[in-house]
Amino acid sequence: MGKYRGPVCRLCRREKVKLFLKGLRCYTEKCAVDKRPFAPGQHGKSRRMKFSDYGLQLREKQKAKRIYGLMEKQFRFYFKKAEQSKGVTGEKLLEFLERRLDNTVFRLMFTLTRREARQMVTNGCVYVNDHKVNKPSYLVETGDAIQLKCSEKQKQRIKELIDMSKDRTTPKWLKVDVTNFKGEIVGIPDRADVGFPIKEQLIIELYSK
Ligand code: SF4
Repeated sequence: MGKYRGPVCRLCRREKVKLFLKGLRCYTEKCAVDKRPFAPGQHGKSRRMKFSDYGLQLREKQKAKRIYGLMEKQFRFYFKKAEQSKGVTGEKLLEFLERRLDNTVFRLMFTLTRREARQMVTNGCVYVNDHKVNKPSYLVETGDAIQLKCSEKQKQRIKELIDMSKDRTTPKWLKVDVTNFKGEIVGIPDRADVGFPIKEQLIIELYSK
């Protein structure tokens, strides 16, 4: 599956919001959204952006895709899955995105970015219920036990990261045991657990056209 390999700060500047894609730098004054709060590109500073309804829907979808690090095909797959599920489509979409294994590792605070969490999963460092799972798209279920198995050096780094990002909190659907590098899924993520402002209704409107 393809992935975006370009400069990530451009993505935040395009959405005019911090998407926290670059780890520690996002928490410093070096953040590009703070330093250059206008759209990227030659005319980014001068162009006044006035979006149509379609433009607003498109931007909201792009923002969600970029936060979770997904390409169009993968994102649309979750929309279809949400549409076919019982419940409110927008909320189901966010639930599926949150339950991805890479997102779960990130929300357990073992990494500073979802991209890093994805790498950890594909490198085979993440075990679910004692089985190695190297698919970042694996959807965790209530009762699943997550365990990190990595080198002592990596574990030391994770501990340092956790100390450095004390402002972050684990959502209530997860229980974390930092000392033993373990986590447990104790519920299903709901709308309130999504840690950033997103208008999922606009995404649904876009895909329903
Ligand atoms: Fe986005 Fe982080 Fe870059 Fe700031 S530093 S623009 S939050 S990726």
